[in-house]
Amino acid sequence: THFGYSEVPLNEKQGLVDDVFHKVARRYDIMNDLMSGGMHRLWKDTLAAKVNARGRKGFRHLDVAGGTGDVAFRISASAAHDAEIVVLDINGDMLEVGRDRARERGVSGVEFVQANAESLPFPDAHFDSYTVAFGIRNVPRIDVALAEAHRVLKPGGRFLCLEFSQVAVPGLDKLYEAYSFNVIPAIGKLVAGDSEPYRYLVESIRKFPSAEEFERMIRRAGFRRTGFERLTGGVVAIHSGWKS
Ligand code: SAM
Repeated sequence: THFGYSEVPLNEKQGLVDDVFHKVARRYDIMNDLMSGGMHRLWKDTLAAKVNARGRKGFRHLDVAGGTGDVAFRISASAAHDAEIVVLDINGDMLEVGRDRARERGVSGVEFVQANAESLPFPDAHFDSYTVAFGIRNVPRIDVALAEAHRVLKPGGRFLCLEFSQVAVPGLDKLYEAYSFNVIPAIGKLVAGDSEPYRYLVESIRKFPSAEEFERMIRRAGFRRTGFERLTGGVVAIHSGWKS
């Protein structure tokens, strides 16, 4: 392990993750732009387009680990006006930034809920779709979060996950590795005044299962017609599954 975070016991992982996002909440959006060279916008657009809330009356969507609302705002922009969109995050600071942004942009129909992805405060079969973007790798027990996703979706509902993945293009992998271990913590230090949270993020990306293995986890949680799509040479992947 590079930074020792791998040794953190499961029950302490959440506290560590919470510290990271507490520290960076106010600067989270600018950091995203800097670190991904603006690419995260494109990836999130691709994800949001798959939700296809357009025109469907009473559509209910849940965006888990939704942070400052980036994915939810995109979905809300194309959804029917009576759609209900919930942004759920464990961190009140990230949600606060999201609420401020919603107010500034005049976004309505988006609700912010503080809760844990491993224990969703919603009844069974409640949502038409579920997204999680750059969030699932932060959750200590991913299998529990996937089971919860399956539980709150209606039959016929869709699970979608955008997450960093393994770069599959020879050459690009080495470049990407050098970038993430050197440039990302350095940008973190410049903008947020601390490189440590970003070392943790980079480490968590390395430890995340391969796209194939993550698809198997989604199937184990009960989803069917599963699949994934790699974007940007495998820097990120979008996984999908349906509740039957
Ligand atoms: N989805 C947003 C985006 O793409 O801009 C935010 C992604 S941010 C990298 C990860 C988010 O996951 C943080 O806001 C963090 O608070 C949240 N998070 C971490 N553990 C969580 C958990 N157990 N349940 C819900 N949210 C969690």
